Amino acid sequence: MSEIIKAYRYALDPTPAQVEILHRYATASRCGFNFALGMKVAVYDHWRRGRDRLIAEGMDKAEANKRAPKIRVPNRNRTQAYWRETRGQGFIGPLPEGQEPREPFAWWEGVNNRAYYTAFEDADTAWKNWLDSLAGRRPAMGFPKFKRRGQARESFRIVHSLKNPDIRFEGPRRLRIPGGGGQPAFTVRLHQSPRGLTQLIEADDAIITSVTVARDGHRWHASVLARVTQQLPDKPTHRQQAAGRIGIDLGVKSALVLSDPLVLHQGADPVLTVDNPRLLANTARKLARAQRVMSRRFVKGAAQQSKGYQEAKAKVAKLHAQLAARRATTQHLLTKRLVQQYSEIALETLNTKGMTRSAKGTADRPGRNVRQKAGLNRAILDVGFAEIHRQLEYKARWHAVTIARVPTFFPSSKSCHRCGWVDTDQTLADRTFHCQACGTIIDRDANAAHNIKIHATPVQP
Ligand SMILES: [Zn+2]
Repeated sequence: MSEIIKAYRYALDPTPAQVEILHRYATASRCGFNFALGMKVAVYDHWRRGRDRLIAEGMDKAEANKRAPKIRVPNRNRTQAYWRETRGQGFIGPLPEGQEPREPFAWWEGVNNRAYYTAFEDADTAWKNWLDSLAGRRPAMGFPKFKRRGQARESFRIVHSLKNPDIRFEGPRRLRIPGGGGQPAFTVRLHQSPRGLTQLIEADDAIITSVTVARDGHRWHASVLARVTQQLPDKPTHRQQAAGRIGIDLGVKSALVLSDPLVLHQGADPVLTVDNPRLLANTARKLARAQRVMSRRFVKGAAQQSKGYQEAKAKVAKLHAQLAARRATTQHLLTKRLVQQYSEIALETLNTKGMTRSAKGTADRPGRNVRQKAGLNRAILDVGFAEIHRQLEYKARWHAVTIARVPTFFPSSKSCHRCGWVDTDQTLADRTFHCQACGTIIDRDANAAHNIKIHATPVQP
């Protein structure tokens, strides 16, 4: 038996009064995040001013980075303690001498404290991700951003307490969300039946660990995370073993190119390529049109934008949400089918450091990105590919699948997968691989997928 974390997502049908509560929670979560991030930024700025003084005095930057007096950036626990102490005040920070507290923050009332605690945690994660990206452990990213009202996605997360299991399903289609801050708990109607999960909970095979409620476009969703106890297979099925290994390449034309056929939908023909739904022309056109309408209705310098503008903005948000949902569905279906149908999956090793760098690459490494795969928005595709890798890694366990990899910068599209002959003059324009040694003629990306299949070595989970 193994324990795995699974997410169950349900659309919500809240009453108008409940929508108000959800907005309040989301606002609390956003302000909590900004509160925590604000504390980190203040400490960081203090350190940076100290360092800049040293640089101004003539020290070089690397030395100044080391010498500037270090201050611990407050983590979630310190943020929480400080928040408890100051939340009744009308401002953030210690009370200046001789000043009376003003009105308390409106945002801390009527909300379960845990919605704040998770927001503080999220600020920790955002900060850590930024530090990791500076150290090259993650794709490059900008300084963590404050969540702006009306722009940030509305969402909040509540961690489940095992001692007091107050997040639960009630009746056939309701989810109970704990109250707090003087407000009672409330139960929201679900659009889909949660039966799959409730049956596992009743059989003691699942425990809810947290619930995230978010608004995507026009609709609120709850994503319930549960720790599910499940019997995992110790070896692949006969069908998987018979299929063996599949190689996957990130292609130029199609998002993914496979070395072997994959059945995506039951009864449908197997496919050898999978398109990226982000690039679907139809939705892209609709989105472009909606964005034009939105910018046409935007009045520069206006204190408040028109109703027409708000409508156009909502339309754009809805299309984005639809696109994201469709992309997520495609990715999940694809990774599910791969682990169901093959016993080994061969992939490239992602170069996370170079991932969001422009296709130009760097001066000392012009990058295979330019030569091989220019002309597409690499960052977008790579991020999608990273998500597919992530899903394959955890879903592999569910079906006893082995993941195999070829090293980063492995020249997968330059050598013949049949005989190993290397085409040294290959250019990006060469869509077809033509082997001068054995005469093989094959689509360039398909050849790459075969090479990945052949040359990958299994990695220990
Ligand atoms: Zn050949």
